[in-house]
Amino acid sequence: MIYADHAATTRLSPKALEAMRPWLEEEYANPSTLYSFSRNARRAVSEAREKIASAIGANADEIYFTSGGTEADNWALKSIAFRQPNQRGRIITSAVEHHAILNTCAFLERIGFEVTYLPVDRHGIVSCKDLADALIKGTVLVSVMTANNELGTIEPIAELAEAARQHNVLFHTDAVQAVGHIPVNVEKLGVDLLSASAHKFNGPKGIGFLYIRKGTAIEAFIHGGGQEKGMRSGTENIAGIVGMAAALEEHLETMIEDAVQCERLRAKLIDLLRKAGLDFVINSGESHIPGSLSISFRGAKGEMLLHRLDLMGIAIAVGSACNAKETKLSHVIQAIQIPEEYRNGTVRITLGADNDDRQIEEIASGLNRIFAR
Ligand code: PLP
Repeated sequence: MIYADHAATTRLSPKALEAMRPWLEEEYANPSTLYSFSRNARRAVSEAREKIASAIGANADEIYFTSGGTEADNWALKSIAFRQPNQRGRIITSAVEHHAILNTCAFLERIGFEVTYLPVDRHGIVSCKDLADALIKGTVLVSVMTANNELGTIEPIAELAEAARQHNVLFHTDAVQAVGHIPVNVEKLGVDLLSASAHKFNGPKGIGFLYIRKGTAIEAFIHGGGQEKGMRSGTENIAGIVGMAAALEEHLETMIEDAVQCERLRAKLIDLLRKAGLDFVINSGESHIPGSLSISFRGAKGEMLLHRLDLMGIAIAVGSACNAKETKLSHVIQAIQIPEEYRNGTVRITLGADNDDRQIEEIASGLNRIFAR
């Protein structure tokens, strides 16, 4: 199989698996217990927290482990909202967020909060001016993703966060697609909260973290035995936490060379498709996650391309969700206003460090054969 859907998930790194193994086997102590058997587990969680904090320029006590990106996003939005007097206030987000944000916003709207959805340009970029205009009195939180999962487009987070700061409004970013792939530093970005997920950077599934800037007024998310300083109770997923830290550490070591390789392969793919005379437009912004390509083919159907490539052993994603009866364009594809004749033929190809030249040639030739038919 040629796997070109790294934005969906990535393979667990062998180093991360090795780091996890003891915590799944002989080191099974609960870190909250008092006897010496639990000491190693406590130390492992604390070392992982240090590593993760230093990877994003945070302090260890600002990192809270979660079950992944979805939980971190839910926590950030709901727990800032629930902190507001009378449970009222406005949240500003963008029209192209992941459903972990959009469906949380929809829930908050149902219980009385107001939500503003900022529009985006042709490549999914949120404008700082639009945010500045939307920052009216009563806004309690802005949440804009660092990089879009369908487009790979990177948002101008530092500028957006600065606009929020000038109005004394907290800023959250869903950095699930960004952490491990581009430099992410909470100080440079100026964000108050940041979500990340291990399985997007070759860590295990079901583990992630929320960065909460020290001093941020936020409610606890899961009530129980008091783990994670009482903010997110539940016995720690030690293997997951250790595996996430190992995977992130490994990603950071090779981030620059991986980015160069992924971008070279992406450029090669575009070049091969152009040379083959295929008619397409590119939706990803100029500034994008390395190797990430959202591309729309004129007169084509994204699902058809996905299924035909699947038969050739190539895994890519579509920019639309379908059910048995209808094919619905995703909210992202709708928001970026792709020309009508290209819109339905949108696919997402996201490359990783494990892709090579031969695979790129096969993807290009596969697409070429489909269109030749
Ligand atoms: N946010 C973004 C931008 C994502 O791409 C994803 C996963 O696809 C999530 C949140 C959810 O993360 P998780 O799968 O860890 O719950």
